[in-house]
Amino acid sequence: MGKVYLVGAGPGDPELLTVKATRLLSRAGIVFHDSLVSREVLGLIARDAEVIDVGKRSGHKLLTQEEINSLLVSAAANHEIVVRLKGGDPLVFGRAGEEIEALRNAGVEFEIVPGITAALGAAAAAGISLTDRRAASQIVISTFSRGTEGASMDWGAITSTTTLALYMPGPDYAEVAHRLREGGLPDDLPCVIVSNATGVEQQIRWTSVARLGHEERLPAPALMIVGRVASQKLQEISKEFWRGEPSERQTRHTVVS
Ligand code: SAH
Repeated sequence: MGKVYLVGAGPGDPELLTVKATRLLSRAGIVFHDSLVSREVLGLIARDAEVIDVGKRSGHKLLTQEEINSLLVSAAANHEIVVRLKGGDPLVFGRAGEEIEALRNAGVEFEIVPGITAALGAAAAAGISLTDRRAASQIVISTFSRGTEGASMDWGAITSTTTLALYMPGPDYAEVAHRLREGGLPDDLPCVIVSNATGVEQQIRWTSVARLGHEERLPAPALMIVGRVASQKLQEISKEFWRGEPSERQTRHTVVS
């Protein structure tokens, strides 16, 4: 009986893989990967390994989650090292929970190898500190699109010093902007969209909640960092924010000085 490694592939740049991930990729007998994983990272897999793309693209599921779960279990019977390779960190929006449960239930040994999650890759790309003490006190990692079974966003967690990392924003930025406003975020709150963070096709767009709806869509994968830290002019604007009468929705967003 082999062992299954749930491995984080990081946001794109293969040099951001952990040493452990690199070693496992070169030794695995079989690798199941998502479509998010970059070509450069896939290039590190041993030549004689079996490589299976279990990714989902534009809503087309190649395999169901249940099918992936049972593939992992049966692969462990035939290979010493089985790698389940996921973009970013395997435990952030990666459905790893279900895979872990299936492996546990089947009595298959497993180990989790963390990776750099996209929000951290995006922050590095944009050169902003997600917890800059002049403007932020917490990071909320969230998404609007988690399918029918997913919980909706908890707006109670968002304050004026929250940095919101919004994964899977989808193609409709106007809809995202609408929901951010509905959640009580002010129009002039900065937002940075990072597409293909740390990858060769990286793009960064500096915008705001008000302007977001008019921005041209950036290629997937992309995420948004919304909050006072999401600006290249943090020092100037951190003083300017939250002036004037907050609307009823914006009462949570009072100045923290
Ligand atoms: N487990 C992954 C997230 C999977 S959900 C992680 O920890 O990063 C997929 C979403 O992650 C994408 O829709 C996008 O919002 C974000 N994402 C993944 N890689 C990205 C990248 N290189 N640049 C920007 N966003 C990325």
